[in-house]
Amino acid sequence: MNDYNHGNPGNHGMPRHEINTLIIGCMDGRTNFKVDELNAQHGGAIILRNAGANVSAPEMKRAIEIALDKYNIKIIVLIPHIDCGAMGLVCDTLLEHKSADPRVYSDLIQQFKGRFSDRGDLETRLNPDMQFDALKELIGNRQVTLFRYVLDPSGLSVPEDYHKHSHTLFVSRPYTSQCSLMFEDATAVTGKEVGMWGTYVVQPADESSIRIAIDNLGIRRVIFFAESVGDLHEMEHAEKELRSKGVLNGVNVSLVVPKHVKKRMTSL
Ligand SMILES: [Zn+2]
Repeated sequence: MNDYNHGNPGNHGMPRHEINTLIIGCMDGRTNFKVDELNAQHGGAIILRNAGANVSAPEMKRAIEIALDKYNIKIIVLIPHIDCGAMGLVCDTLLEHKSADPRVYSDLIQQFKGRFSDRGDLETRLNPDMQFDALKELIGNRQVTLFRYVLDPSGLSVPEDYHKHSHTLFVSRPYTSQCSLMFEDATAVTGKEVGMWGTYVVQPADESSIRIAIDNLGIRRVIFFAESVGDLHEMEHAEKELRSKGVLNGVNVSLVVPKHVKKRMTSL
């Protein structure tokens, strides 16, 4: 992962002008519309999402560093949210003393130990503050403006039957693409709906977030999505790694290459 491809003919929503915005959000499917809306407002942004909008997860941290080095990033928008499954897991582990996967513990949970009183405190104060501070450290002396909004899913017109949806986990590299368009591509290739409300998004492929989606949220359908030949190799590698660690056991996995990308592959 050394470049976030953009400007390729056929790619969706890829701005031709210089990208200057990063959006960092949670994988939660209820925030997809908001991510697309902010992406459009900023004229195309690089999207990074994991469990809890957790800047401290190693894959996320590395992706932010790469974006800061490669692009002239001027704006970073951090959008954690309340009623977050990842924060629920943090509370279960640290307040209720339930056990957690060691990798998830070190990537996500540990940073909050002894620093909050209840879930509300964690979601509205501690997590946004800690991720904001972690971003400041990564930015260093670069001239970047940081924005932070704590989203409230109850204000996002979430359908009443949301929790009855059988959720899908969508794993990709960080793209500037609208998720609605990537989901359309994935629906066309798999023949089964990848819906705006039922789909969690992890980008880049972050092991602890994928573990949380499968082990804690019970997601049983995982789509690895590739928008280019380079992405395909990276997604194949990620899938292989996760399989070897048993993370994908009992899960329906597909590797999706949109038709317009496949066409380019066969013409190579
Ligand atoms: Zn969340």
